[in-house]
Amino acid sequence: MVVIGGGYGGATAAKYIRMWDPSIEVVLVERDASFVSCPISNLVLAGYSSMEEISRGYDGLRRHGVTVVRDEVTAIDTARKSVKLANGADIAYERLIVSPGVDFEFSEVEGYESVMQAGAVLHAWKAGPQTVALRRQLEQMSDGGVYVLSVPMAPYRCPPGPYERASMVAAYFKQAKPRSKVLVLDANADVTSKAGLFKRAWSDLYPGILEYRGSAKVVGVERGAVRTDFETIRGDVLNVVPPHRAGDIAMKSGLITTNNRWCDVDWRTMESKAAKGVHVLGDATLSASGMPKSGSMANNHAKIAAAAVVELLNGRAPQPMKIINTCYSFVSQKEAIRVSSVHEWDGTTLQPVKGAGGVSAARSEAEGTYAWNWARTIWADSLA
Ligand SMILES: Cc1cc2nc3c(=O)[nH]c(=O)nc-3n(C[C@H](O)[C@H](O)[C@H](O)COP(=O)(O)OP(=O)(O)OC[C@H]3O[C@@H](n4cnc5c(N)ncnc54)[C@H](O)[C@@H]3O)c2cc1C
Repeated sequence: MVVIGGGYGGATAAKYIRMWDPSIEVVLVERDASFVSCPISNLVLAGYSSMEEISRGYDGLRRHGVTVVRDEVTAIDTARKSVKLANGADIAYERLIVSPGVDFEFSEVEGYESVMQAGAVLHAWKAGPQTVALRRQLEQMSDGGVYVLSVPMAPYRCPPGPYERASMVAAYFKQAKPRSKVLVLDANADVTSKAGLFKRAWSDLYPGILEYRGSAKVVGVERGAVRTDFETIRGDVLNVVPPHRAGDIAMKSGLITTNNRWCDVDWRTMESKAAKGVHVLGDATLSASGMPKSGSMANNHAKIAAAAVVELLNGRAPQPMKIINTCYSFVSQKEAIRVSSVHEWDGTTLQPVKGAGGVSAARSEAEGTYAWNWARTIWADSLA
């Protein structure tokens, strides 16, 4: 078994295959030295958490008997059943799991790549060096400055993530630079997740600091300004999140099936509809109805795939699974809100279970405690 990507999907799948059948050899290929979590990374931007707190090594997986290879997969040969690494080596597989996360369509925002190379615009939509750089820009911005956050058209990874980020930056400004402003330019017509709860928090906690504009798609960026179809807006810190698609390796290997962006799968096994013996997980998938692109979902996809792989490699028929999603978002240092859903097999695909799940009644510190507990639990479930 080879697994590409040691994020929420890949790490969980590698661990659970080893736990459920220790006779299966699992090789995980991950290009980064350690796992850095996007969930909670918005708190790092506000100074409420740290990169150390959201990072984990891969020794936990090694203790489960997973062989962790630090390298980049540059090609998948589905006919020969092998993957090629950047160092030139080939690794053969019987079944392959691909959980590469997302990459970005930079060309859809005019000027993005040149301004990004100059360090004048960041997305920080993959936790890591850009998270640190964005925090530094926010710290260096003078009081009275404007932070612009642009949200791409859905689907993108973590529907509530941009609104949590806007809340966290506003919380930091309120405390450290109260004359500053957060301007959210959303390509979507309205807040795409937990809208009522976010808007309530913004009007209660950040009046005069946080401004939200829907149907405001950013189509261009230059040093110190972004452009929508209607106007040019100046900002001191530009945080433009470009449109998303499945990670590059899925694109290069012909796993993308839909809109040139996403990989359709059989939701009983996560097996690709484009390549037999290849299972695609997490953000890279063409989401089933009502299913967000989230770490919580990727972790659940991984369990479907792990169970299916164990059954298939042992000559048994995999059974469909019922899965759950829970996404917490902080709206202040201690208060959070939640959305959850349950998804079950209807004979064709996974569908949300009516009446199951929902959103928090109100923001609260109790939800904030649950959010931290959720994060620590999923990090342990995926990696320890
Ligand atoms: C700001 C923010 C906040 C978020 N908050 C939440 C939250 O509160 N709750 C929640 O559930 N979700 C949240 N998410 C979403 C969550 O981070 C993603 O949905 C999740 O990471 C998806 O898991 P994945 O396995 O698909 O991809 P990832 O976790 O991104 O993992 C992909 C891995 O594959 C590796 N990789 C890619 N290509 C290759 C290759 N060719 N060779 C080797 N390695 C490769 C990458 O280095 C990476 O480690 C948030 C996201 C953001 C940006």
